[in-house]
Amino acid sequence: MSFVRGLQCRECARTYPVAAVHVCEFCFGPLEVAYDYDAISRALSRDKLAARAPNMWRYAELLPLDQPPTVGVQVGGTPLQRAKNLEKRLGVRELWIKNDAVCHPTLSFKDRVVSVALSKARELGMEAVGCASTGNLANSVAANAAAAGMSAYVFVPQDLERSKILGTMVYGARVVGIAGTYDDVNRLCSEVAGKYGWAFVNVNVRPFYAEGSKSLAFEVADQLGWRVPDHIVAPMASGSLVTKIEKAFRELRKVGLLPEGPGPVLHGGQGAGCSPISDAIRAGGESYKPVKTPTGIAKSLAIGNPADGFYAARAIRDSGGHAASATDEEIVAAMRLLAETEGIFTETAGGVTLAATQKLLDEGRIRKDACIVVCVTGNGLKTTDPLESAIGAPSVIPASLKAFDELYRQDTSRAA
Ligand SMILES: *Cc1c(COP(=O)(O)O)cnc(C)c1O
Ligand SMILES: [Zn+2]
Repeated sequence: MSFVRGLQCRECARTYPVAAVHVCEFCFGPLEVAYDYDAISRALSRDKLAARAPNMWRYAELLPLDQPPTVGVQVGGTPLQRAKNLEKRLGVRELWIKNDAVCHPTLSFKDRVVSVALSKARELGMEAVGCASTGNLANSVAANAAAAGMSAYVFVPQDLERSKILGTMVYGARVVGIAGTYDDVNRLCSEVAGKYGWAFVNVNVRPFYAEGSKSLAFEVADQLGWRVPDHIVAPMASGSLVTKIEKAFRELRKVGLLPEGPGPVLHGGQGAGCSPISDAIRAGGESYKPVKTPTGIAKSLAIGNPADGFYAARAIRDSGGHAASATDEEIVAAMRLLAETEGIFTETAGGVTLAATQKLLDEGRIRKDACIVVCVTGNGLKTTDPLESAIGAPSVIPASLKAFDELYRQDTSRAA
């Protein structure tokens, strides 16, 4: 049974029946899924939730399907790890890592959005799916479509990391590299979706896709024992995740799973080579200036003209939060810091988020005695290229104890 009322325009509040549409016909505003919260609050309780399996579908009433999911039924339920070592290094009291670097099955938070989008596409009778991707979405659409027996067309900027392309093609998806930026790819996908009638997860079924991001925030509240953290720091590409974290906490209050009250304060991070949303926030506004040619190693976040940029900036500002961007050097340093302190190998997006957290702490935007959650959204093993030059090669010695004795002597004398 579904608690979905329909789709609603974020700008003019006009309502639409559930279908593969994403813009308002009247004002071109983005459409969003609307729910019957009164009915949900009667159907859900903390006790009921506690008895369910620990994956994202535990919050099914607040996700936009009419039937049980048919794609990605085991997605989510990732660890929320208390980061004691990192707390010491940063001089903060309580820091948690929401670790979607180990999300099933493709090691990024994109599995959350894709499982919703593909399950919904199937409910709508669409068996061919596609996406415009900066990498992780491509991996996830390809893997989840393969497991569901759906066919997938995946469009990416042609200069994407080789491993992200390989990690898409391996699932048998048709991958099309476009000579252009992500924004060029996205524009083409709108045309293809219109002409071929396929479900493009982040184009015509975007309202459903985006709802999947809420599950990350539901889990954070649940895993903290139904406590609201003071600050949540998240990476921004299109800006969708940040807006859905805000929506998730609003909904948890509406359905009575959290008491009325403030927070969390939301913060966003972007790579310095493509930081339209972060720049807008730092300039004190909500309207962003598109970035024509994104640069830098944070490729998974490189969206120059972010679809939800305006709403992300507004959600952050209204929460009392802020944003920061990180240079390539700062991103690499943060990736290494997280790995060395907490044993979590994140991709550049996680480096961006941790580096942004450090800056916001330095600027006093995040208080050191607060409860802070840092969202790590992707896995470092997927794209090791950004670290090649920073990490270097291991020591090589002959297979003799004498040679190791010498190496160990050097190590210990260097340490002394
Ligand atoms: C896509 C992505 C994001 C953020 O995406 P939004 O478009 O802002 O929702 C964050 N981290 C990683 C690793 C991603 O792949
Ligand atoms: Zn409208």
